[in-house]
Amino acid sequence: MIQEQLHQIYKSLGISEEVLQFGMEAETALKPRFEEIDCRAEYNQLKVIKAMQDCRVSDIHFAATTGYGYNDLGRDTLEEVYAACFHGESALVRPQLMSGTHALHVALSGNLRPGDELLSPVGKPYDTLDEVIGIREAIGSLKEYGISYRQVDLLPDGTFDYENIRKAINEKTRLVTIQRSKGYAVRPTFSVEQIGRLISFVKSVKPDVVCMVDNCYGEFVETSEPTDVGADMIVGSLIKNPGGGLAPVGGYIVGKKECVDKASYRLSAPGLGKEVGASLGLNQSLYQGLFLSPVVVAGALKGAIFAANVYEKLGFSVLPDGKEERHDIIQSITLGSAEGVIAFCQGIQAAAPVDSYVKPEPWDMPGYDAPVIMAAGAFVQGSSIELSADAPIKPPYAVYFQGGLTWYHARLGILKSLQSMIDAGIITLRHRDQNTF
Ligand SMILES: *Cc1c(COP(=O)(O)O)cnc(C)c1O
Repeated sequence: MIQEQLHQIYKSLGISEEVLQFGMEAETALKPRFEEIDCRAEYNQLKVIKAMQDCRVSDIHFAATTGYGYNDLGRDTLEEVYAACFHGESALVRPQLMSGTHALHVALSGNLRPGDELLSPVGKPYDTLDEVIGIREAIGSLKEYGISYRQVDLLPDGTFDYENIRKAINEKTRLVTIQRSKGYAVRPTFSVEQIGRLISFVKSVKPDVVCMVDNCYGEFVETSEPTDVGADMIVGSLIKNPGGGLAPVGGYIVGKKECVDKASYRLSAPGLGKEVGASLGLNQSLYQGLFLSPVVVAGALKGAIFAANVYEKLGFSVLPDGKEERHDIIQSITLGSAEGVIAFCQGIQAAAPVDSYVKPEPWDMPGYDAPVIMAAGAFVQGSSIELSADAPIKPPYAVYFQGGLTWYHARLGILKSLQSMIDAGIITLRHRDQNTF
């Protein structure tokens, strides 16, 4: 009965019988992995609840403050919850941290001083940090403030180049930045355990160096976080994993008290630090989003794994592959043609709860060397914990996709992308080995 109803409603959403069947086949094989993901989500859910109980969260903490925001109990307690949950001494969790890039800039500029050197031992960081650091000339970059930058690339097999990392650490090295997620690069995402080994190595060479981890897209994917393996600071965005889809804005920095305090004096002003910053009525969304986050992340992970398996079956190259252990929620699929990428993104858009009737088209976005297409029908603008996909229209024609507030929505999005590619005549399900790209 329910099966029949499901078929009917998928049909009403434009999914053909053959696509639905194909999806079901792929999903059946994934049941054991999905169970593992559910177990991890359960652990992380309990971790969040324990932190909220230990910090005695109460409804008074949801009240709005305005103006300076002195004695904002809700804000201060939320920061205690983040610190407890991620096992740091202190936290800065603010709507005034406008994005992940801003939070990273605040963490870096708050903890570095003129004459210091910043080291990335994992290759070039996320694109938006180029101008923060001064890899690309920019007004107000760390470079302008006399902070130098050094980088050690990963070895060809994606592992750490310990020999050259040792050589790169010098008397000026003050902070080491480690990006957990591959972001939109082609390299593996690091596990928390790998990050721990790298941090131990760095500290064995220079014990007083600050180790910061860009934790974007990694929160709650595993049962531990980089702060559990020696990171002095972890930094991320609330419109990705830890906001659980409910946070309308914000970023976080969790870690050693000294590091967090230094960042806070940069965010507000010397002498003010964490004491100011009104929460403007956003507290409840930030608490509730964190509460939901482990389950939301589990849904997004299932979506990524489902997509990898579906498209791998059709002969496309996918990263990570269908079997790999996951350390973030991003999935890339190389579709091999502009038409493929466009049809995929239009399918994702058509599955959205918001703006589903809009057809995304490639456009010349400032700062990119090729037209870019983006699919997002999100409740929160730019939120990438919500189902979203984007791709530059250039070889190898790879699409990056992530998110999904629920597994069912992620599943629909992937089926829609498949349907859209079939309807555009780009692939067929019947001749799987004949899909050559
Ligand atoms: C998203 C992201 C950032 C930057 O975050 P924004 O909120 O887009 O500014 C930095 N690093 C990584 C790895 C990311 O995924």
